[in-house]
Amino acid sequence: MAEKTSMAEELSKELLISRRNGFWDVTDEEIEKADAFCEGYKDFLNRSKTERESVAQTIVLAEKAGFVPFDSSKMYHAGDKVYYNNRGKSIILAVIGEEGCKNGVNISAAHIDSPRLDLKPYPLYESNDLVLFKTHYYGGVKKYQWTTIPLAMHGRMVRRDGSYVDVCIGEEEGEPQFCVTDLLPHLSSEQNAKTLANAIEGEALNILIGSRPIRTEDGKGDKLFKLNVMKLLHDKYGIIEEDLVSSEIEFVPAFKARDYGFDRSMIGSYGHDDRVCAYPALMALLNCKTPKKTALTVLADKEEIGSVGNTGLESSFLPYFVADLAKQEGLEARDVFSKSKCLSADVCAAYDPTYASAYELNNSCFLNNGVSILKYTGSRGKSGTSDASAEFMGEVRGMLYNNHVLWQTGELGKIDVGGGGTVAKFIAGLNVDVVDVGVPVLSMHAPLEIVSKLDVYMEYRAFEAFFRA
Ligand code: MN
Ligand code: MN
Repeated sequence: MAEKTSMAEELSKELLISRRNGFWDVTDEEIEKADAFCEGYKDFLNRSKTERESVAQTIVLAEKAGFVPFDSSKMYHAGDKVYYNNRGKSIILAVIGEEGCKNGVNISAAHIDSPRLDLKPYPLYESNDLVLFKTHYYGGVKKYQWTTIPLAMHGRMVRRDGSYVDVCIGEEEGEPQFCVTDLLPHLSSEQNAKTLANAIEGEALNILIGSRPIRTEDGKGDKLFKLNVMKLLHDKYGIIEEDLVSSEIEFVPAFKARDYGFDRSMIGSYGHDDRVCAYPALMALLNCKTPKKTALTVLADKEEIGSVGNTGLESSFLPYFVADLAKQEGLEARDVFSKSKCLSADVCAAYDPTYASAYELNNSCFLNNGVSILKYTGSRGKSGTSDASAEFMGEVRGMLYNNHVLWQTGELGKIDVGGGGTVAKFIAGLNVDVVDVGVPVLSMHAPLEIVSKLDVYMEYRAFEAFFRA
């Protein structure tokens, strides 16, 4: 009897997939490295809550690592490190390889925009002695999650003469914060009867920003509450109400990234999607010694609303950049792309036992089991996905195996309960081999998202190996 069991065990080990917590496959030393890596990540999160701040912080780190602004009229050579800043909202970084780009380039692509509350074009109003901002939510948000949490105001306001002022208020100790109010439970019987999706409507996401009028001699005047706030904004930032028309103001959760759990194994933060991939992809490139093939990290804007606009990956800024690199070597961009490979770095849903019915257990990704390689995303019958080839899946799987990077695969959740997409399809559209390699996240798109430190580190190790290949 004992022999038979052991034969079955042997066979199972040889033939079957064993899925176990990644903790058992790494040493304490690696856990320590993961924890140390995540200290830098938390700092990045706290400095980079918007796409603009992410680009600015990326440039600070890149210049420290010897990267310089790309100049298409200059000749570059193996080992040169450059970056292309696209309008302060997306960025491409490159390390020129020994072979240049004649055999293709290795691209890692992540996004740096996250769900949030944007201001409407005419946001400022007063109502019954309170002053509020009208907002328009950006990206896929569950609206109820954005009420009664502390919010900070980030962004840029551009004046009619083209000058601008950058704003960041609510992050530092002692600065005021803002919030969207919600109805008290005592008066919520009607609200409680609504569905979760309808209980808080888009037009209810109004941010409370003041409650005192400007003092006038006789206490008379129109819109004195609104005027008081506008005067404060004018005094501090030198803007008038009309300047809000040409602004990109984003209200984001005001709390900072912190360790979560008694064991400190996780990080809770706003904006893991997709900084949790952007930061590892960035660090792997910054630490990349002269690679064989030219290595690129692209950090894009607008993914959360479909990668649209001239800073999103549907735009041509990536192909134009690669065309500039190709031209230096007398090559056509299309020939470079056709031989190129890309790891599209975006988060996936981590299995949540509290909401087990949304997941298909066999094909779920779990916290602490390493990076998730997703062959496809999309919804229903794989609609809206690029669906990586078996060959490229095999290649990436082999690369991760050979470099002892913990990995897993799966799907977003049950087939017909929803869906989502990434930048993968836009890069695949350039005739590049591409697959999603990301980090599992709990409570994705919530103001507070959770990831595992081990997975963050494995994402870094995956890109390190990819650029080295
Ligand atoms: Mn994402
Ligand atoms: Mn997202």
